[in-house]
Amino acid sequence: MPGEKKHFVIIGGGPAGTACATHAARMGARVTLIEKDLIGGAAHLLDCIPSKAMIATGGAMSQMNAAVDMGLARVDVELDFEALRERIVSIEDRLESSVSRLLESQGVNIIEGTGRLTGTHTVAVDRNDGGTEELTADVILLSTGSRPRIPEWAPIDGERVLTTRHAYPPPELPTKLIVIGSGVTGVEFVNMFNSFGSEVALIVSRQQVLPGKDPEVAAALEQSFIDRGVKLVMGARAEKIEVSPDAENNNERVCVFCDDGRIVKGSHVLMAIGSMPNSEGLGLDEIGVENEWGYVSIDHNCATNLKHIYAAGDLSGKLPLSSVASMQGRKIAEHAMGMHAGPHRHIDYEKAASAIFTDPEIADVGLAEADAFAEGRKIRVTKVPFSVSAKALINNDSRGFVKIVSDPATGVVLGGSIVGRHAAELISVLALAVTAGLTVTDLVESLFVHPALAEVLGEAAE
Ligand SMILES: Cc1cc2nc3c(=O)[nH]c(=O)nc-3n(C[C@H](O)[C@H](O)[C@H](O)COP(=O)(O)OP(=O)(O)OC[C@H]3O[C@@H](n4cnc5c(N)ncnc54)[C@H](O)[C@@H]3O)c2cc1C
Repeated sequence: MPGEKKHFVIIGGGPAGTACATHAARMGARVTLIEKDLIGGAAHLLDCIPSKAMIATGGAMSQMNAAVDMGLARVDVELDFEALRERIVSIEDRLESSVSRLLESQGVNIIEGTGRLTGTHTVAVDRNDGGTEELTADVILLSTGSRPRIPEWAPIDGERVLTTRHAYPPPELPTKLIVIGSGVTGVEFVNMFNSFGSEVALIVSRQQVLPGKDPEVAAALEQSFIDRGVKLVMGARAEKIEVSPDAENNNERVCVFCDDGRIVKGSHVLMAIGSMPNSEGLGLDEIGVENEWGYVSIDHNCATNLKHIYAAGDLSGKLPLSSVASMQGRKIAEHAMGMHAGPHRHIDYEKAASAIFTDPEIADVGLAEADAFAEGRKIRVTKVPFSVSAKALINNDSRGFVKIVSDPATGVVLGGSIVGRHAAELISVLALAVTAGLTVTDLVESLFVHPALAEVLGEAAE
């Protein structure tokens, strides 16, 4: 009807869904957001935020334990598991209420329930209060996220055999934790529990942790794990887990059997071997929304094969990051509201900055040195260690380096990696350079604060 507001129906209230909802509402759309659990999504409640909160506590412990080297006579720290649990819940509560307030202030109608497609323009909701309703939509966004992948041989019980979702914090502090999976999530959990004082073993299916990352970066992390007493079980694929609750030795209650015959024993095991999409029951196949193994196929506008149905976040099978999910949500709102008629930028997933919250932190953006070599592309690589930085010495932590990849002909910054304290913050400078097409000269000539770790970015660009 002319003059009527466009009606967006969004299924899933994580970063993708909430970003789309607020932007569409701001642009004048009528928006209904369906969420079956809590606003903020798995990102705020189960994955990203609680894991970072625990890592921050572990980081504070590690720093305090190292503080005697900074002129203090003695520092005693002890983990208070109950206080940690309360802290995580309070962060989650605050985030949930601030996002809910934002949505309400924009006039977004939130329905608590489970949504599914029933037609190309209709969505049914099984409300949490037992009722049902059907909504008619001009625009539909599918943003139901993902969950941990659990192989059939893993007897997950939430007690001894955990997924990442049982770990905030787990029922008890593992005395000896076995982590299966050495991707981003796995290594973050290794870091977290190692800093809490648990003995940790990491099962790595290849010959490098963080498969696909710059080998120099991965090697720096492996070395830091070895220095911190983490046992690396390299080149082994876990294929069976046995739990013996009555074993006398707590550190032998869980046995992980690997394909090469090795057996790793511990008190608990945590599975971190990837994720799978929350697409069951969404009605994708019934309505004809193209998907691959449940990941919804999207074009550069995040539209599916049905152009008024969009998908974003982990469900879209692109980069599984909160930052990417939010940006997709925002871009979808703009596109569906017709704001992309003029010049605009599509999301360039290759330019997304990402970080791994280990100790030291790891972050990267854009073109990786190894990928450039594999493509036979000419690049210039410059690298400077943090040991040259006054601020790193002041911080009593000069581990790591900054590496910048640039175009030898034009000097344009194409990518970079940072290993070291605050890498997740520092990478923003390189992310901006990569997105804005800045050159190494721009970085060299920037007047950074002194003393600051960012100065190393300027030096690495020389
Ligand atoms: C351990 C861990 C740590 C992470 N750390 C980071 C990090 O540091 N930085 C980062 O950028 N990313 C991180 N991520 C990734 C990040 O959490 C995800 O990329 C992000 O949550 C994806 O957002 P989303 O909106 O797609 O989905 P989600 O956040 O998963 O939200 C989806 C929502 O949809 C709801 N839902 C599902 N089905 C239905 C339905 N049928 N009807 C109604 N509601 C439904 C769910 O209840 C959920 O609330 C981490 C992931 C993990 C596992």
